[in-house]
Amino acid sequence: MTAPALSIENLHVRYGGVHALAGVSFNVGSGEIRGLIGPNGSGKSTCIDSISGRKRPAGGRISIFGKDVTGLKPAQCRALGLSRSFQRTSIFPLLTVRHQIDLAARPFDDRNADHVLDTFGLLDCKDVVASELGYGQQRRLDLALALVGSPKLLLLDEPAAGLSREESLVLAQTLRTLARDAGITVLLVEHDMEVIFGISDHVTVFDTGRIIADGKPTSVRSNPLVKKAYLGSEG
Ligand code: ADP
Ligand code: MG
Repeated sequence: MTAPALSIENLHVRYGGVHALAGVSFNVGSGEIRGLIGPNGSGKSTCIDSISGRKRPAGGRISIFGKDVTGLKPAQCRALGLSRSFQRTSIFPLLTVRHQIDLAARPFDDRNADHVLDTFGLLDCKDVVASELGYGQQRRLDLALALVGSPKLLLLDEPAAGLSREESLVLAQTLRTLARDAGITVLLVEHDMEVIFGISDHVTVFDTGRIIADGKPTSVRSNPLVKKAYLGSEG
């Protein structure tokens, strides 16, 4: 049996006295798009930070493609095929698009830079400095940077935040195509429910550091616990 792309077992994460994740377990199959939702403060970014090596768990185990990565540093996780984007973009405002892609590609000897720019409609902006890009283009550059080096597992923290409806739906389709064609597994944290329920194979719901629902988009969407957790924030 092939190992899941991502396996999380009984993950506990604390910030001082705050128990941000209190025993979370789930697996993500290879090639799957997994939506991860939950109210503000429920632990979604913490989960991504722990998987990608930015925040050391207080307990539990994280494996990617069958390899235990608990407590590894971000660069070590990246070398194992794990990449991520940030809730706020991590681009350098004063560098050109091309320069940033080249910097990101250096550790990988990656020659597919034009390809990642093309994927996100940025080929024509190669020589533009990032601060002169539109907001939607900056967010897409952040995703293109995450894709340099052909990662196998992509963790995305609210990639559609601040995008227009149309831009969000284009982004969703791009992610769907990437997962299908390049076989990339995606863990997608996103507030835009249309994006989440439109492209996820499976959805996991956090509330105050625990999983309150997990399943196919249609069953999660109609789950009373999920509706209750979102009451007032999602209408
Ligand atoms: P989400 O991404 O679902 O909004 P977070 O993972 O950012 O939630 O936060 C989960 C909990 O951990 C919240 O209670 C938040 O206040 C707390 N938290 C997150 N980051 C920090 C930090 N750097 N220091 C202290 N507490 C934090
Ligand atoms: Mg967050």
